Amino acid sequence: MSKKILVTGGSGMVGRSLKDLMPNAIYLSSKDCDLTNPIETELLIKHHKPDVIIHLAAKVGGIMDNINKPAEYFDDNVIMNTVLLKAAHKYGVERFIGILSTCIYPDKVDTYPLTEDMLHDGPPTPTNFSYGYAKRCLAVQIDAYNKQYGTKYQYLTPCNLYGQYDKWGQNSHFVAALIKKIMFACANGESEVQLFGTGKPLRQFMHSDDLAWVIKYCIDHDIYDSFNVATNENISIAEIAEIARPIVGGGVVQSFSYDSTKPDGQFRKDVSIEKMNELIPSFEAIPLKFGIKKTFQYLLQNQIIP
Ligand code: NAP
Repeated sequence: MSKKILVTGGSGMVGRSLKDLMPNAIYLSSKDCDLTNPIETELLIKHHKPDVIIHLAAKVGGIMDNINKPAEYFDDNVIMNTVLLKAAHKYGVERFIGILSTCIYPDKVDTYPLTEDMLHDGPPTPTNFSYGYAKRCLAVQIDAYNKQYGTKYQYLTPCNLYGQYDKWGQNSHFVAALIKKIMFACANGESEVQLFGTGKPLRQFMHSDDLAWVIKYCIDHDIYDSFNVATNENISIAEIAEIARPIVGGGVVQSFSYDSTKPDGQFRKDVSIEKMNELIPSFEAIPLKFGIKKTFQYLLQNQIIP
């Protein structure tokens, strides 16, 4: 008998990528249930009686929003994670997959890449300290449940993500914001695009379709371990911009300038994918160049003008 799978955050970027791969699961948005509300959340689990919960829902945003609203990022994330995990356990949900973020790791360590066992080696970066700490708490909570209750719940820790279902209005993640800025410059015949920060920080960027593929693989192949999910491309913001320029810039955009008065965020936070490669040797990430192409083509085909 096939498992009943419930996906929180189903209207978000990763949720929509997952829906393309697993159309038969139940996909929820905050309109279906506010996961910060314990009564609504319990009723939801009682009603659907899922075998599996894939918990994607989170309050997610850019650096400035994280800096300006640290209390909201902490409260919303800690409350929804706690309320949902408690309800899942109370109603005997067999499998829970929590999606964290590499922001949970220490801001600075002596050696990179960050391995799963380095989680508690220091505080998260100050720029999204509340969000990072709140998501780190879900790792602690899942590990605690497994220890005390013998559950086989797991968490996956993905690097930065991008994709066709990114937010194209406000609160975009870096790659979407970059594509938007280049498209805007093209439309206005501007040859230079200004980006925030110095362009020097290093990032691993994964297409959201890849994370969706990994989640489905874990379910299909009974993988219950918690591990990092990332690509092996760890490159600077300036290099990422140069990859996107010829794809999106149409020969109009020739260069980038950097506004170093704006924050850079964490300098580097590359995670090790050794454990993921051992568990899923067949995984092949979409290279950034192709992922950006795919994302841009989706915008053109669907006439999305950011
Ligand atoms: P997203 O596009 O911002 O979507 C967030 C989802 O959470 C939406 O479906 C939203 O519903 C839902 N949500 C927010 N508050 C809620 C609440 N109180 N009750 C119920 N649902 C609520 O997020 P994403 O980029 O797909 O990220 C998915 C997961 O991956 C998150 O856990 C995130 O922390 C993690 N992650 C993301 C990145 C990244 O770069 N995006 C990187 C690493 C990890 P509405 O649509 O109704 O608002």
